[in-house]
Formats: sequence, structure tokens, C-alpha cells
Amino acid sequence: MPDLSPIARNLETIRARIAEAAHAAGRDPAGITLIAVSKTHPQPAVLAAMAAGVRVFGENRVQEAAEKFPIAGARLRIIGGLQTNKAEQAVRLADAIDSLDRPRLADAIARAAEAAGRLPELLVQVNIGDEPQKSGVSTAEADSFIRAMRARFGEALKGLMCIPPAAKDPAPHFRRLAAMADAHGLPVRSMGMSGDYAAAIAAGATHLRIGSAIFGQRGENASLHNI
Ligand SMILES: *Cc1c(COP(=O)(O)O)cnc(C)c1O
Repeated sequence: MPDLSPIARNLETIRARIAEAAHAAGRDPAGITLIAVSKTHPQPAVLAAMAAGVRVFGENRVQEAAEKFPIAGARLRIIGGLQTNKAEQAVRLADAIDSLDRPRLADAIARAAEAAGRLPELLVQVNIGDEPQKSGVSTAEADSFIRAMRARFGEALKGLMCIPPAAKDPAPHFRRLAAMADAHGLPVRSMGMSGDYAAAIAAGATHLRIGSAIFGQRGENASLHNI
């Protein structure tokens, strides 16, 4: 058996855990998309993950994403808070924007889509713990915002994304996001990161955003050691 790169080994472990959590929840693992969050890691790390079968990547900064993507055969999702003045570049570069959370950003995306002749898939980010420091639409405004985005973008609005409060049991937050998506008839629930993806699968996640468990810790010089 050939030696696996650390990234390939990490992916083996994660895929096994995803399958286990899916089976425990009576779900088909094929219905769960792994988004490899490659932020802060250089393009060779992305290519190593592709060599190990990953096809979907997440980046939270458009500028940084543009240094690594597009890559033939890879799908890019912008998963981080998006500034209005970055919407145009995001629309041109990304297959999905998972952090739609305010009307002005919707305006900028709509304008950019018109100009570029392409509209990425969209997820509404919900600030599921209503934390002041986090982006995302508040839980109180979520229903009306989701309806407005559905009216505006139609089928391009695929679902919801959340980042639950750190250091608390994420399960109730995951269940709440899944219930919101159900109530709006939206198929995609992007929830679950390196530390909590099994709980997210149990609550109905369709997309997992996993960074450090694949690529190693983020931090100065850390990334090069993890290719
Ligand atoms: C960085 C990031 C992740 C991945 O976090 P890990 O804990 O490294 O898996 C997921 N989602 C978003 C929005 C992120 O910014």
C-alpha cells in the first residue's frame, strides 16, 4: 500500500467517522458533502486533498481564494462573512456563497450576477446563537429574510448555514437550523466543523465544513508542514 500524505490519512479518518455517524443516524453518507476548508493553507494542500478525492473546498476570504482558485475539477464555496465590495469577485470565482446575511449583500450579489451572467448557489447564514460578534441574520429576522431571499433568487437559494456558539453543546443549535431549513423547504444545511461534525450529522447536516481536521492547525508556518 502506498504511503498516504497526512492530508489523505486525515481524510480517511474523517470519512470513516462520517459514515459511522450517518449510519448511527439512519442516514446515507452519500447525502453528506464534505467541504474541505482550505483557508490559510497554500494551493499544494488543496491539490493534496484533491488527490485524495476531495472536490469541494471552502474559503472565507475572497482575495485569498482567488490566489488558489479556480482549479479544474474543484468547486469553491465562500463560507466566511462577505464584504459588499467583494461580492463581484466572489460571484465570478465561486460556485456557492454560503454567507448571505443582509439585504445590502443581496443587492451586491444580484448586481454582480447580472454583470457576470452567472449566479452562484446561495445559503443564508443564520446567527443561530444570536451572538453579537458573529455574522449571520438574527434568529428573529431569519424567517422574513429567508422568504425575501427565496423571492429574489429563486432556486439559487439552496439552504442555510450556521456556526453555533463555541464551548456549548451545539446539538440544539444544529437541530434548530435544520428545522428552519425544513420549514422553508430548503434542502441544504451547512453545519458542523472539525470539532462537532458527528453531532451535525445526527441533526441532519447535508454539508460539513471541515478545516483543521484535514489540513492541520492554522497558524504561522503550520500549513507547510501538513501537506
Ligand atoms: C474556518 C471555518 C471552518 C472550519 O473550521 P475547523 O474547525 O478548522 O474545521 C468552518 N466554517 C467556517 C465558516 C470557517 O470560517
